[in-house]
Amino acid sequence: MLARTTLRRCAMALLALALAAAVPSGAALADASFQRWVSEFRSIAARNGVSGRTFDRAFAGVTAPDPEVLEKARYQPEFKAPVWQYFDNRVHEEAVATGRQLARQWKPWLDRIERQYGVDRSVLLAIWSMETNYGAALENDKIMRSVVRSLATLAYADRRRAKFARQQLLSALKILERGEIGVHHLTGSWAGAMGHTQFIPTSYEAYAVDFDGDGRRDIWSSVPDALATAANLLRRNGWRSGETWGYEVVLPGGRKFPAGTMSLSRWAQIGVVRVNGRGFPRPGDSAELKVPDGRAGPAFLVTKNFFVLKRYNNADTYALAVGLLADQIAGHGGLVRDWNRPFERLTFAETQELQRRLLALGYYDGKIDGKIGQGSRGAIKAFQQRVGLAQDGHPSKEVLRQLRRF
Ligand code: CA
Repeated sequence: MLARTTLRRCAMALLALALAAAVPSGAALADASFQRWVSEFRSIAARNGVSGRTFDRAFAGVTAPDPEVLEKARYQPEFKAPVWQYFDNRVHEEAVATGRQLARQWKPWLDRIERQYGVDRSVLLAIWSMETNYGAALENDKIMRSVVRSLATLAYADRRRAKFARQQLLSALKILERGEIGVHHLTGSWAGAMGHTQFIPTSYEAYAVDFDGDGRRDIWSSVPDALATAANLLRRNGWRSGETWGYEVVLPGGRKFPAGTMSLSRWAQIGVVRVNGRGFPRPGDSAELKVPDGRAGPAFLVTKNFFVLKRYNNADTYALAVGLLADQIAGHGGLVRDWNRPFERLTFAETQELQRRLLALGYYDGKIDGKIGQGSRGAIKAFQQRVGLAQDGHPSKEVLRQLRRF
C-alpha cells in the first residue's frame, strides 16, 4: 500500500514535470502554444467534416486551457473511501424520496419511455439521481462548464486522456455542426459528460433520442429526452425487460465460493439463498457472486442487467448503487445486511445537521449536501480531537450528540 502510494506520488511528480516542460510558464506563452494547438486541430476537424465556421464559433473565446479542468484531471485521492461511504453518499432516504416524487411528476413520460424501451422507471430515476442529483448539478456552474474548452484542455495538456479527449472533442464539434445544440448550451462535467444523464459526446451521438418530439435531442434541458436516452443505451446493450439486476443473498458460513458465473439454481444448491428466503424467479439465469465489502458485508448474486448497467459506468459499485437505489424507489426494502460500518449511521437529515453544526463551529467550509467527503471527514476529525473522541472521521451518532452540546 505504502509502496503504491509512493509510486503514485513519483508518477505524479514526473507528470507535473512533463506538463511544466510541455506548457511554457507564463500565461501569455501558454496561450500562444495552446492557440497553435487549436489551429492544428482546426485542420484535423476539417478532415473530419467539421466546417471552419462551426469550428470558429465553437472556439470563440477559448483562448487558454481551463486550469480547473487540469486540476480535476490531476486529482487522485490519497485515501480510498470505504465502501459504506460510497453507498451512504448515494443511496439514502433523500434520493429515494426525490425519486418517488419525480416519478409522480413525470409519470406520463415515464409510462411512455417504459413502454418503448422496456426499462423500469425506477432504474432510470436512480441513474438520474446518481449522475446529476436529478438535474440539480446542472445548475452548478462550478461543475458544468464548456464542453469544447474542457475537452480541448484535456486533449492539449493531459497526456493520459489526450486520445479520449480528441475523439470526444471531434464528436462534440460534429454535434455542433449538425446544429443539435447551440455552442453556449454545450456544457458538461470537466471530463465532457453532458446533460441530466451525463453522456459523453460519442455516447450522445450513438444513443441520444428526441423523445419529446420537438426535433432536437436535448439531454440538457428535456427530461424526457435525457431519460429516454438512458433507456435507449440500456436497451441497446441488452437490457432484459421486467427483470432485476440481482439479489441480496445469504452465504453459508465456512466455505469458499467459486468465481465466475453459474445458474441461480446451482448457487442455491450450494446454499446461496435470497435474504427473504424466497426462491429465484428464473432459476436458470446465470449469476455471479459479488461481495464488494468482503464477507463481513452484504452479498449479491448479480444477473445480466447488472452488467448492462456497467455499460453506463464500468464499476461494480456504480451498478450496485443504481440497483439498490432503484429497488428502494420502486418500494422494495433496503439491504438486510448492512455495509461493514464501524459506527451507527446517521439519517440524511442528521448528516446535514452534522455538517451545519461543524460549519457553525468553524470546522467545515463545504456544502451542506449530506455527503461525506474529504472535507467533512477532516472537519469531523478536528472536532473529535477537541472533544477527546478517537479521530476516525466517521459521521457517527456519537459525534452528532457531542456537536449538539455546543
Ligand atoms: Ca427533444
